[in-house]
Amino acid sequence: MKESESQKHLTDFLKSSQVLFNIKSTDKVAAIEELLDVLVKQKMVQNKKLTLTRIIDREELESTALGHGLALPHARVDTGGTIAMAVGRSKEGIEFEAIDNKKVHLIFLVIWNPTLPGLFNHLFAGLARFVRVRVNRQRLLEAKNAAELYKVLSEVELTLPREDKIINRGNLLWKLQQIELKMKKASKDKKKKMREHAELIRSELDIDLLDRYDRLMDRYGFAVAEVMDGACQGCNINVATGMSSAIEGSNDIYVCENCGKFLVAAKKQKN
Ligand SMILES: [Zn+2]
Repeated sequence: MKESESQKHLTDFLKSSQVLFNIKSTDKVAAIEELLDVLVKQKMVQNKKLTLTRIIDREELESTALGHGLALPHARVDTGGTIAMAVGRSKEGIEFEAIDNKKVHLIFLVIWNPTLPGLFNHLFAGLARFVRVRVNRQRLLEAKNAAELYKVLSEVELTLPREDKIINRGNLLWKLQQIELKMKKASKDKKKKMREHAELIRSELDIDLLDRYDRLMDRYGFAVAEVMDGACQGCNINVATGMSSAIEGSNDIYVCENCGKFLVAAKKQKN
């Protein structure tokens, strides 16, 4: 583990009262709502209607079923805290349009705060790592009661980066721009995939940041510029002294003082 990381467990974000051992609902939307109600009741989610809409919209984009009877519906909504999670088990299983066509028996509902865009990815990675091991999956799915299920969940380890290093938002904006520029020339089939990818990146970024990005895209056709040899490639004017090196590896957002575009460190050319 690197010094910039900290070790956590899934249950650091999940109290036993956030685990439903027997979900009553038999269809996807109702099951998600049943889990969401747990979080609403515990005042971890304020706006139920908005949150449910976001979760379902995300689910329609692409099923969050992971295969092996597990699903991870999620949405990025201001929770007031860091992350709100509820886990529900269904003995009969719920149809989730999983790739392996298997019904889902364990649902992890995750709502996380826009100020921590990368947290979800690390949660997802930790969970995926755990359930990749067959015996772990079996223990999760075959737990005999709520306490046993919670005990298995407490073994899921998460490696979280320290908050200021969670993701490089500048690079995410750059990626979004690359996709959206390519999308204009892409075939209909490719366009659909690209739009989905773009939507996923957008779901990781703050709304005010995206708002500014969209305005720049509308006005100039691009919104993010590389800094090469100390100069903004959007306007060819040198950026402030020291800014060039500060941009590299930073999660802060930098903007060109001359042309107003977002700045990222120059990417290494792939030849
Ligand atoms: Zn510039």
